[in-house]
Amino acid sequence: MLDRLLAEVQDHTRHFLGYPVSKDFDYSPLFPFLQYPLNNLGDPFVDCTYTVGSREMEKYVVEFFARLFRAPANDWWGYVTNGGSEGNLYGLYLARELYPKAMVYYSEATHYSVQKNLHLLNMPSIMIRTLPNGEIDYNDLEQTMGMNRHMPVIMLANIGTTMTEARDDIGRIKDILKRLAIRHHYIHADGALSGSYCSFLDPRPAFDFADGADSIAISGHKFIGSPIPCGVVVAKRSYRDRIARSVAYIGSMDTTITGSRNGHSPLFLWYALKSLGLAGLEKRARHSLSVAAYAVDRFRENGIAAWRNPDSITVVFPEPPGNIRRKWQLASENGWSHIICMPNVETSQIDTLLAEMTAASVMV
Ligand SMILES: *Cc1c(COP(=O)(O)O)cnc(C)c1O
Repeated sequence: MLDRLLAEVQDHTRHFLGYPVSKDFDYSPLFPFLQYPLNNLGDPFVDCTYTVGSREMEKYVVEFFARLFRAPANDWWGYVTNGGSEGNLYGLYLARELYPKAMVYYSEATHYSVQKNLHLLNMPSIMIRTLPNGEIDYNDLEQTMGMNRHMPVIMLANIGTTMTEARDDIGRIKDILKRLAIRHHYIHADGALSGSYCSFLDPRPAFDFADGADSIAISGHKFIGSPIPCGVVVAKRSYRDRIARSVAYIGSMDTTITGSRNGHSPLFLWYALKSLGLAGLEKRARHSLSVAAYAVDRFRENGIAAWRNPDSITVVFPEPPGNIRRKWQLASENGWSHIICMPNVETSQIDTLLAEMTAASVMV
């Protein structure tokens, strides 16, 4: 059964364009660590009685992203999560503890985990319309916030929506808050895919702490790549201090969502960041962007109405037939599908997919 599963995984990994998961990693130097029960129980920045873990690496990973996201020098904190969804849950949790009577705003194109998180946290929320590209409709947002001006605002901003990788502009959201004179607000940026490379774009999208975010969540297994789903959440340290609770049993602070925490994921992320560095990450982004540009051009040359948001690696096009969607694992919604040009995707894969799509349309 193991052999069969391995063959199946290898085969299915080859044709994989529809989900934002990088596959070009080699973590073999870390294999010996799979023999040990690494567990980063508790707060990464507070020592713990349980010492079989990778806290030093976790702190490095959090600091790397705190700097990249221009967090205030003495007011950042974070941890390695089990994925973007947990990072979003954490951001909303901090926001709720700060503003228990706030209204949450998020757009129609928001990831499905957010509604579930809001339900878990029992937070009132309003869904805002999106523009055709998947970005939040700022007029609808301003009008809706205006009707609830007496309530603090918790804004869930999408820094790359799941379907079209549209980015809500935190600068414009701050302008709206200013016009409405709403002083009590919290902005959480869901940067699951895009957040990992937005800092390298020019113009740089308004998405990070310097732009007005209070917390940012990314997925680790998406742009960077990891055999185990993981993520990073970075928040202002002062907010985390408000929820911190010391727990004698673990000899650390209970500041994260789960008790036991994966100690291997920080190792993978640390290894990737150390090997790539900022320059390597930027190079991955450039490669992805150029493959996405190539895909849009080639699709359009062949009569397929493909498009992408500015500086995004997600290419959207009318849904192809079922057999093609199944083979390439293409998600689809409302008649649209997408491919995500992750750093491991090459133009030859685009050519193969395109050839299959044009052959299919000739047959129809
Ligand atoms: C993938 C994704 C998430 C969820 O991240 P996981 O790592 O799968 O938990 C949240 N938001 C957006 C926009 C995503 O694309």
